[in-house]
Amino acid sequence: MKIEANKVVKIIYELEIGNENDREMLEIVEDDEPMVFIQGMSGLPEAFEAQINGLQAGDEFKFSVEAAEGYGDPDPEAIIDFPIENFKIEDGKIPEGMLEIGNMIPFSNEDGNKMNGRIIEITEETVILDFNHPLAGQNMHFSGKVLSVRDATKEEIAHGHVHGEGGVVH
Ligand SMILES: [Zn+2]
Repeated sequence: MKIEANKVVKIIYELEIGNENDREMLEIVEDDEPMVFIQGMSGLPEAFEAQINGLQAGDEFKFSVEAAEGYGDPDPEAIIDFPIENFKIEDGKIPEGMLEIGNMIPFSNEDGNKMNGRIIEITEETVILDFNHPLAGQNMHFSGKVLSVRDATKEEIAHGHVHGEGGVVH
C-alpha cells in the first residue's frame, strides 16, 4: 500500500537544520516512538507530504525542504511585546519559573485557537514573545524510513487525527 491522501503513515526520521556545510541535528525519532499521521492532514509542510507521497512500508527517504517551502520566513509581526503586568496571574505575582528566555507560553487568540509564544526577551516592563513556528526560516533535511501504511478509518478522517497506537486515545 502506497502513501496517499487519507492513509495513516508511520515513520521514523532524523531532522537536521541549517545549510549544506553547517548542519545541526535537531530531532531523532526512533522505533520506540515513531511519528504517526494522516497523509494530507499531518500539519506538516505540503512539501514534506509531497516528498513521501507514493512510498510504501520499508522504503527509505532522504530529502531537503527549503525554508520557503517549509514553515516560511519568520514574520516580524509575530513578535509581540506584552506588559509584564499581564503575567502577574498568581495572586498578583508572576508564577515562579514562568518568565525565562526560551519558555513557551500558551495563548488563545480571539478565535480560540491555541498558539505558543516563545520568550525571546524580558525587560523590567515588557516580555517579548515570538509566535513564529520554531522552524520558520530553517532549511530542513530529513532522512528516515516508512514503517507502515494503512487506510485511515472514517472516524480518523472526520477527526483529522490518528486513533490508537501513537495517536489520540479517546
Ligand atoms: Zn479522534
